[in-house]
Amino acid sequence: MANFFNDNPDLVFQFENLHIEEIVAIAEQDYQEADKYNYAPKNYSDALENYRKILEIVGDIAANFIAPRAAQVDQDGNSVSAGKVVYAKGLLENLKHLAAAELMGVEFPREFGGLNFPKTIYMQMVEMVSRADASLMNIFGLQDIGMTISKFGNDDQKQEYLPKFVAGEYTGAMALTEPDAGSDLQAVKLHAYQNEQGNWFLRGVKRFITNGGGEVLLVLARSEAGSKDGRGLSLFACHGDDTVVVRRLENKLGIHGSPTCELQFNDTPATLIGKRRFGLIKYVMDLMNSARLGVSGQALGISQAAYSEAVKYARERAQFGQPIINIPAVTNMLIDMRVTLETNRSLFYSTSQWVDLRNKLETQVERLKAAGKSWSEQNERFKQASRICDLLTPITKYILSESANKISYDALQIHGGAGYMKDFTIERLARDARITNIYEGTSQMQIVAASGGVLGDILSDYLDQHAKKAYKGSLTKLAGYLREIREIFLDCLNYVTDKNDHTFHEVAAKDLVDLYSYLYTGYLVLDEAEINNRKIFIANRYITNALAGARRNAESIKTEQYSDLLHADEILN
Ligand SMILES: Cc1cc2nc3c(=O)[nH]c(=O)nc-3n(C[C@H](O)[C@H](O)[C@H](O)COP(=O)(O)OP(=O)(O)OC[C@H]3O[C@@H](n4cnc5c(N)ncnc54)[C@H](O)[C@@H]3O)c2cc1C
Repeated sequence: MANFFNDNPDLVFQFENLHIEEIVAIAEQDYQEADKYNYAPKNYSDALENYRKILEIVGDIAANFIAPRAAQVDQDGNSVSAGKVVYAKGLLENLKHLAAAELMGVEFPREFGGLNFPKTIYMQMVEMVSRADASLMNIFGLQDIGMTISKFGNDDQKQEYLPKFVAGEYTGAMALTEPDAGSDLQAVKLHAYQNEQGNWFLRGVKRFITNGGGEVLLVLARSEAGSKDGRGLSLFACHGDDTVVVRRLENKLGIHGSPTCELQFNDTPATLIGKRRFGLIKYVMDLMNSARLGVSGQALGISQAAYSEAVKYARERAQFGQPIINIPAVTNMLIDMRVTLETNRSLFYSTSQWVDLRNKLETQVERLKAAGKSWSEQNERFKQASRICDLLTPITKYILSESANKISYDALQIHGGAGYMKDFTIERLARDARITNIYEGTSQMQIVAASGGVLGDILSDYLDQHAKKAYKGSLTKLAGYLREIREIFLDCLNYVTDKNDHTFHEVAAKDLVDLYSYLYTGYLVLDEAEINNRKIFIANRYITNALAGARRNAESIKTEQYSDLLHADEILN
């Protein structure tokens, strides 16, 4: 029987090569959780065994329950009745099934009924669910709403929302975007006000809200009258009660199973999450970074599905007297897709582990403070991990979402005319992929977010250590290529910073981020090639292409095409 975990050797490879021992130990409070909960792991190998069992269950559900419903969900879509969302039948069945399998509180603490799993394991689930039906991942991935309440909410909020989340009675929504506040969330206007008793209420409109008909909404709102920027915004939790009206569902290109809502808040009772004024700068940034990782997993799942469809079709379809998989141009496209898929997976799970470590170190610092113990050393590690996450999360979202579009585009191309028809799954996958580089911040905004860390060369220690490492056999040549890319990067970095021109920095940012991503991913796959022979092929193609790409990036930076911006009016007229 199909299983999206066991039938994917590369996903299993990533699972078997995780470095999460410290992460799990902190999450399990050095395995003292096992004294309280008889299903908590007793040691690291017990934890890994448990994760594998659950991943196999998700692999089974994804392949045999969710995937067979995906086409119908896409066709049916959702609807609105009396201001409320009515889910497609297949979507409802999927959600019930996931809740019955106790998968709706994967990272949640055990005291609220959650599994207390690391984020990295949750991301492996997200990849598999997305491979089966990308639109379902949006609601499955909105467990992040519960995690934000768990992290920043007060005890009442946690008790009110979290157990029902885990039970599958509540789903969440993240209500940030407004007609005049998209990429620029500092422009949010939705009004939050207090009555004489100090209770909060929300009034205004949000648009493009995924699962806006959900039972728990986290809403970014302007709580400080007269303020204009992000410091006047706070985050609120509210119920999706009758004061929250779904005015319309968007009629969109893809992810039809995911209801995208325009919402009207009519004096909706709400409670403040954390502190006033910290809504955007602290809580939403945290939530969005988590959601960006989730969308990266969604993009990876779509890429896997598209690649699998392309290989299957290329084996079955014959032209010129042979299966098209044997035609070199087609074979080469498939190899390119596979290499991108696997290197993206390496990048994704590496970033997930950094995010996991950052989150767990943060928890540990809080615990040490509460116990009156010394916490400065762990705090330094937390700050360093945060800087790395702030770089790797947007890079991963940018690379994986752009790749999902390219892979699904190429997979459709391999289907020829058939790919353009609704009879073939690839048509849906190509539509679903298109959103991944738009929401949770467009690719352009991911580049903006990553560029500070790239300009600061914050991975320099890591890259320098790898540059000194001795690799064997054919890997020596590839290590040499990576050293060459590093030189190109440093040369371009000096060139850009010497200019001290903001416009030039903005235009060159994409090339610099590309160069940095080749280096980080290149060393990841080189290390993998040391322990797995098949990965030598993957590393060879990735790093060879990266060197060619790096030379193009340098060329693009140094030809100073940005000077065209000075003549934009004449060119665009
Ligand atoms: C299907 C769907 C689901 C969504 N779900 C949610 C949700 O659940 N919750 C939520 O709050 N929002 C949601 N959104 C909103 C989504 O996050 C925004 O659409 C996205 O952030 C872009 O904002 P915008 O559409 O206003 O585009 P704009 O901000 O108007 O951007 C238009 C273009 O300008 C570019 N641009 C803008 N500023 C810059 C800059 N500084 N540098 C470089 N380029 C720039 C952008 O890259 C883009 O190409 C969803 C959107 C869609 C389509």
